[in-house]
Amino acid sequence: MNAGGHGAETKDRLVSAHIVDLATGADRWLGVAELDLTYRHSAVTSVQVVASARFRLEAGDADAANERIGEIVRWRRENQPGGQNAGSVFTNPPGDSAGRLIDQAGLKGLRIGTAAVSDKHANFIQADPGGSADDIRRLVSAVHDAVAERLHVDLRIELQMVGWDPSLERADPSCS
Ligand SMILES: Cc1cc2nc3c(=O)[nH]c(=O)nc-3n(C[C@H](O)[C@H](O)[C@H](O)COP(=O)(O)OP(=O)(O)OC[C@H]3O[C@@H](n4cnc5c(N)ncnc54)[C@H](O)[C@@H]3O)c2cc1C
Repeated sequence: MNAGGHGAETKDRLVSAHIVDLATGADRWLGVAELDLTYRHSAVTSVQVVASARFRLEAGDADAANERIGEIVRWRRENQPGGQNAGSVFTNPPGDSAGRLIDQAGLKGLRIGTAAVSDKHANFIQADPGGSADDIRRLVSAVHDAVAERLHVDLRIELQMVGWDPSLERADPSCS
């Protein structure tokens, strides 16, 4: 999924990946261009596994690297919640930020049962200790629908929702 943040993405350093197709048993190395890595997307399908990968890195100064990592961790602690959450709930629409839109729609702090939209960063949903996945799912749908109604933006979900009956997803485009 080309994880990235703070101005860098996996594809910046990846050279190639060894892909095994579980459906056919075939395996081959794909170069970074063939992997088609874009924002939260790659050409790797749900029946393929990345068995190994090659990265190109540059030698650098360890103290400077540790300082940079420290800055990133500090920024995250100040701007993103801890506790029980699965990271970003929705992908950022082109040119905008899902968190900004959810905040603008007035949804920070919105709660359904054991799940609440984080007060710290609106694109995070916090679960209470012992919280329910059904509450998270209901809150994801409520946030999606409220942003669509109030701001006319159709947010796309970044979380992978596992375990619900796919036939129930019909009326819920955010969870398709
Ligand atoms: C608090 C928090 C903050 C986050 N912040 C960011 C962020 O800033 N930027 C960002 O990009 N992401 C962010 N994420 C999401 C995070 O990047 C992904 O969860 C992580 O990169 C996935 O890597 P993983 O190894 O944990 O994979 P998993 O969570 O185990 O898997 C993720 C997906 O990849 C598939 N997968 C895993 N391994 C393989 C493999 N070997 N071959 C093929 N498919 C595989 C899984 O089936 C699944 O579909 C955040 C998550 C959390 C919880």
